[in-house]
Amino acid sequence: MNKVIIGVDLGGTNIKTAIVGEDKKIIAKSSQPTGEDTGPEAVMNLMAQCISDLIRDNGLEMSQVLAAGFGAPGPMNWQTGIVFSPPNLKGWKDVPLAEEMQKRLGIPCYVDNDANVACYGEYWLGAGQGADSIVVFTLGTGVGGGIVVFGKLLRGIDGTAAELGHLTVQRDGRLCGCGARGCLEAYASVTGMIRTAEEGWDKAETKLKQMCKGDPKALRGKLIYDAAVEGDAYALHVFHETAVWLGLGAASMINALNPERLIFCGGMSNAGDLLFSTVRETVMANAFEVPAKRCQILPAGLGNDSGVIGCAGCALDRYLRKDG
Ligand SMILES: [Zn+2]
Repeated sequence: MNKVIIGVDLGGTNIKTAIVGEDKKIIAKSSQPTGEDTGPEAVMNLMAQCISDLIRDNGLEMSQVLAAGFGAPGPMNWQTGIVFSPPNLKGWKDVPLAEEMQKRLGIPCYVDNDANVACYGEYWLGAGQGADSIVVFTLGTGVGGGIVVFGKLLRGIDGTAAELGHLTVQRDGRLCGCGARGCLEAYASVTGMIRTAEEGWDKAETKLKQMCKGDPKALRGKLIYDAAVEGDAYALHVFHETAVWLGLGAASMINALNPERLIFCGGMSNAGDLLFSTVRETVMANAFEVPAKRCQILPAGLGNDSGVIGCAGCALDRYLRKDG
């Protein structure tokens, strides 16, 4: 009987579930709104339901499932599977997620943070497949990160490694959500890109003003992207600035780790050359020549599914290693 692994990506908006075969074949996927009640009991019951539905609908049985992996917003302890207090899951405080899901499902359950699983997904089945070492930046409301070296997630002594959104790129720079100043996240997240657009707003001549009816509070990443694609000089400038900050973060990681590939995940990574050509130029100008030339800089290979596929991959890896 073929064995399978379950991945569940738990977000504030959606719960995504996937079944992946031991042979790395993606068997099935589903996505369901997290719902109004984001409390731990309701969400954990819903995840168990999503899993059993997907298993049944694909003619499988729970006895075929080796393990399940859960990706959750941090902070957390990945070894004990306890999720502390994610800002976008109201009512969660020190929830023993791995233990509770194990009780509900009767199989080994593992928990990892959402950026680490996205990184592992890209390493396992995405743009990082076949590479020995990769660095992943996840670009969204914030900037997350993950690092795989020698085929293993780099976690650090306390499990807090790879917070790449909080690389300092500017002394006394913008205030970041973490309380520090000048973090990459404050410049290169979608929120940071909007801040860049707001900063020059008053003097800017841009069709964004029309698109936002003059109100910079209506700015969204997608609007800036659309204006840039249409050739709006200000929107192109905002994209360029964002890509330079990202390139600086990327150059630091390339100098630090000499990775084989560096991958951008998340909605913004679909911006193609608007982002990637400037990132590559900035890397070439700021990192050492040998590692900069060596490192391939790529968009995610799994689109929006890096996280959920990575949950399954991470769970399989930990199950096989008897690792936590
Ligand atoms: Zn920060």
